[in-house]
Amino acid sequence: MPKPPAAPADLSADVIVVGGGMAGATLALALRSGGLQPILVERAPMSDQWEETFDGRASAIAFSAFRQWRTLGLGARLEPHAQRIEQILVTDGRAPGAAAPAAPSPFALRFDSAEIAERVEGEPLGYMLENRRIRVALALALAETDIRVLAPASLAALDVEAGHVTARLADGRAVTAPLAVAADGRGSQARKMAGIGVVGWPYRQSGVVATVDLERPHHGVAHEHFLPSGPFAILPLTDDRASLVWTEGRDQAKALMAASPEAFQAYLDRRFGDFLGRATAQTGRFNYPLALELAERMTAPRLALLGDAAHAVHPIAGQGLNLGLKDIAALAQVLVDARRLGEDIGSELVLERYARWRRFDNVMLAAATDGFTRLFSNDNPVLRLARGVGMGVVDAIGPARRFFMQEAGGATGELPRLLRGEAL
Ligand SMILES: Cc1cc2nc3c(=O)[nH]c(=O)nc-3n(C[C@H](O)[C@H](O)[C@H](O)COP(=O)(O)OP(=O)(O)OC[C@H]3O[C@@H](n4cnc5c(N)ncnc54)[C@H](O)[C@@H]3O)c2cc1C
Repeated sequence: MPKPPAAPADLSADVIVVGGGMAGATLALALRSGGLQPILVERAPMSDQWEETFDGRASAIAFSAFRQWRTLGLGARLEPHAQRIEQILVTDGRAPGAAAPAAPSPFALRFDSAEIAERVEGEPLGYMLENRRIRVALALALAETDIRVLAPASLAALDVEAGHVTARLADGRAVTAPLAVAADGRGSQARKMAGIGVVGWPYRQSGVVATVDLERPHHGVAHEHFLPSGPFAILPLTDDRASLVWTEGRDQAKALMAASPEAFQAYLDRRFGDFLGRATAQTGRFNYPLALELAERMTAPRLALLGDAAHAVHPIAGQGLNLGLKDIAALAQVLVDARRLGEDIGSELVLERYARWRRFDNVMLAAATDGFTRLFSNDNPVLRLARGVGMGVVDAIGPARRFFMQEAGGATGELPRLLRGEAL
């Protein structure tokens, strides 16, 4: 009689990372660089993430977050695709189409990398990178390590027992470790399993993302144009292309997605204007409904949350992934240092250090982006006056502007070693 197939052997690790998106994959590499052995559990095949149709976004990455990737050995793969952001110009529009960047009101706010050059050694304000490039670089880097990647494999349950946590996977396998990390994004299953609630609400907006070819060079300038329906961002990419984040009400976003290529190009011509020559849309449009989702806590017994699983924010300030990358640098440092001191890396004491380090920054940024979104996404004359005054004040005061730039670059507060470009 044929023997039944053997049950898959159970697995163990130092850390179970649930979710192999940009945050989970970066964390796994960071932990391994510090001598810990993670296991990565990802619901979808990793190769799905490299498809052109998977994620059409590009991310503005703060220079300190980019330094972390360099330190983890991703520099050579990312740098050819990284566009330096030298300047950010913010304008306040009145009605959609009425004040497109073709005929901008005087720039209400101008951030210039030259102003912070002395403090951060000629670094730009940040880099623009297509998410697909980041995902490929992370996957290739993972493949060069001995990190075990279980994909496709879905988390089905988390059992916390004395001294360890067991992740039970939908395919019947089980992984045991002193600590699990929820890096499974918005609507995180791991977070729900731990009974951690969220504060948040959907915005009545979606971000339509498309890439355009520009007729004229963009010189590394990013434009953020605030319109009542939401911000319209033109973000510079290599080879004189730009990534557009076109925020609209949900129905209008659906209409943009459904438009024929010709109709979409016609809307684009009207919205974009011709200040960079003609902007020609490449094929592929992506629609992201926007919401705020802030976890009530960043830890639970033997579980730490990070990335969008801990805080999904509006992309108005391009900070979502940057926050996740800061979480990673802090958590990896706390865990590696704890292991070197012989501590239990899943203990409450150790997790509390991580939560203390990151909680304030995450809550403040989530609140700031939410406030910003409300302040800018409407045409109320009083709010328009208030934001005009606010932007004017920030623009007029050099130190305030420099503070915002350092903040956007991720260089304020107590920086973990990886964000300073130092190994763990
Ligand atoms: C339009 C737009 C523009 C943006 N621009 C910027 C920007 O310029 N700069 C910036 O910093 N941020 C930006 N962001 C935010 C940024 O994209 C997100 O913060 C980031 O992608 C979150 O990554 P993550 O790895 O935490 O989550 P995700 O990308 O959601 O990854 C979670 C992973 O977990 C896996 N998973 C889920 N459930 C399970 C399970 N049960 N078991 C196993 N695996 C599971 C999923 O398959 C997925 O791969 C933008 C967002 C939007 C919508």
